[in-house]
Amino acid sequence: MTDNLSPEDRSRCMSNIRSQGMKPERAVRSIVHRAGYRFRLHQRELPGKPDLVLPRHGAVIFVNGCFWHWHPNPACPIAGLPKSNLDYWQPKLARTRDRDREHEAALIDLGWRVLTVWECELRDLEGISQTILAFIEPARETERSVRLGGDQEVPRGTLKRPTGRVPQTAT
Ligand SMILES: [Zn+2]
Repeated sequence: MTDNLSPEDRSRCMSNIRSQGMKPERAVRSIVHRAGYRFRLHQRELPGKPDLVLPRHGAVIFVNGCFWHWHPNPACPIAGLPKSNLDYWQPKLARTRDRDREHEAALIDLGWRVLTVWECELRDLEGISQTILAFIEPARETERSVRLGGDQEVPRGTLKRPTGRVPQTAT
């Protein structure tokens, strides 16, 4: 388990998300919020204005529409070039994809960890929730099992985030 919810809670939460037909970004916010994390939205000073920013975890999440951001996965059922006006669409979508990559690289340079959630991945809410929560707090599983294993509490600072640097905001 990578979050605080019981399986029943989680499936109820999932069916709420499904039945409301949420937009991808709202669905991701809901997953993160219900797991008890605090986040900020669209921080302007960060490259690409990430959809969710979790400063305490040094993590940012983009939620990308598969068509507009041209999901590079060949198995994606949504991404693809329109049949007409190829001269218009091909360079337009390619520019967006390039810009996304530049933003991601800039964020990583600033010390952030970056996850991109694609619209089509939200069709498997259970799977993508696990991916998202494991991304936000990769050390949590280890921390919990260490605590349960011994009677002593783990000293603070023993379990570190994988990135060594403290994320900075862009200037
Ligand atoms: Zn996709």
